[in-house]
Amino acid sequence: MKCFIHSAKEAIAACKKCGKGMCSNCSSYSGHTGICPACRKEEFEEELSKKQIEFTQTNKTIFWYKVYTVLLCWTIIDIPIGLYHIHKQQEQANKLYQRIDYLGKEINKLSKALSQGSANI
Ligand SMILES: [Zn+2]
Ligand SMILES: [Zn+2]
Repeated sequence: MKCFIHSAKEAIAACKKCGKGMCSNCSSYSGHTGICPACRKEEFEEELSKKQIEFTQTNKTIFWYKVYTVLLCWTIIDIPIGLYHIHKQQEQANKLYQRIDYLGKEINKLSKALSQGSANI
């Protein structure tokens, strides 16, 4: 079996998802997890769209906690609670942002790897 991207190279494994053969170079793109770059890209794209939705929702939540903290907190006790929630949500948003950034870069790399296939022979 030959690599499905590099048709001149011998495949070292078949993708666990699509069953196509991949060379050692292609296998390394998914950290030798047995998944080909094309399937890996698909997985990342799925995760990316989920994370983007979560990110939008978290930002909305932050907005409403801010509204709550500024407008609706009439007692001293309410303000720290409001701030605590804003802080927690912001941490969450930061984590999501980092993951989105990472996924975007990885998808780019994989796209390049997939398109360079024929040029590398
Ligand atoms: Zn695959
Ligand atoms: Zn290959």
